[in-house]
Amino acid sequence: MAPARQIMFSNWGLLEPEFVCGAKTGRLAFYEAHAEKLDNLTNDNYWKQFMTDIHHEMKRHPNRSADWVPQEILEQRDVLLSLWCEYLLEPGTYATEDLDPYIWREGVVCSSCGIDRQQVATKLEAFNNHNSWQSPSLYIGWCNFCAEEKLAKITALTAAIKSQS
Ligand SMILES: [Zn+2]
Repeated sequence: MAPARQIMFSNWGLLEPEFVCGAKTGRLAFYEAHAEKLDNLTNDNYWKQFMTDIHHEMKRHPNRSADWVPQEILEQRDVLLSLWCEYLLEPGTYATEDLDPYIWREGVVCSSCGIDRQQVATKLEAFNNHNSWQSPSLYIGWCNFCAEEKLAKITALTAAIKSQS
C-alpha cells in the first residue's frame, strides 16, 4: 500500500490527492478501466485501430492524408480525455461540454489563460503563413497556445498514475 497519495511530479508540481482541489475519487479505478486508451490520448496512430471498413473506404478520398482519423473516433477520445480531466485537474480548468475544438462560443475564454477568441485570432495572425495556418480552437477548453502544455501535463500525470497501478 502506498504511504501517501501525493506524488511529487517533476516541474508539474504535486499530483493532488483525491478529495483535494475537487479531484474525483476513484482515479486509479478509472485509470485501470481505461488504461490503454488513457496511455494513448495523444497518439493518433493508436486511435486508427478503431476505424471501421466504412472509415477505411472514406479514407481513400483524395483530400484525406495517411494520418486522417475519423472525427467520431476523435470525439470518443476527447470525451474520455474530458472525463479523465475530472480526476486530475481543478474544476474550471478544462471543458466538459462543447468539445468540438472549432466551436468557440461568444463570451467563452480559454480555461487556462483566459484569452478570448478574438485575441487568439489576433495572436495567430503573427504565426500563420503559407506553410502553416491555424484558426482559433478551444480543445477541452484550452486555446491554441495552452493546449499543448495542458496535454503534456496530462500525459505526465497519467504516467505518474500508471506507475501507482
Ligand atoms: Zn489559453
